[in-house]
Amino acid sequence: MQAVQYDAYGATPDLVDIPAPDCPADGVLVEVRATGVCRSDWHAWQGHDPVSLPHVPGHEFAGVITIVGPRVTTRRVGERVTVPFVCGCGRCAYCAAGDAQVCPDQSQPGFTQPGSFADLVAVPAADLNVVPLPDDLDFVTAASLGCRFATSYRALTAHGRVRPGEWVAVHGCGGVACRR
Ligand SMILES: [Zn+2]
Ligand SMILES: [Zn+2]
Repeated sequence: MQAVQYDAYGATPDLVDIPAPDCPADGVLVEVRATGVCRSDWHAWQGHDPVSLPHVPGHEFAGVITIVGPRVTTRRVGERVTVPFVCGCGRCAYCAAGDAQVCPDQSQPGFTQPGSFADLVAVPAADLNVVPLPDDLDFVTAASLGCRFATSYRALTAHGRVRPGEWVAVHGCGGVACRR
């Protein structure tokens, strides 16, 4: 498959042919139809957030399931899906409570494993992490949901506790503040 990969921190990424990832027994392979570029990708590329090299970045994506692992019960080939930035293990109390972002056994495509700047990306624990998309939600919009949208949504609702009709000020309009 084709992928965008860099061999060293700060080096110009190359378009390369590499083997497709294996499908985890509890996961799926997703054919990437849209992927975002996040400030977190830049931090990994710069070496601020270390990754193993060579590395394929990308964690904000949407696509179509092409392979389903034998232990997956809820997903099927052909589904249009997206995933959150942080993939939980699917087995611990944090994951069961809906807090996979603090799962102690978490993984992130584009950080702990090859990411979505590629034709295919492997997603572990698919019954927890893979989110089906409504038919009328396009791939580009869906690719923004798992990282930048969820980050700003939780900041406003869980931490800021804003209510309809309230005004907010947004400082530093990066990818999180400017959804697309
Ligand atoms: Zn991101
Ligand atoms: Zn977990």
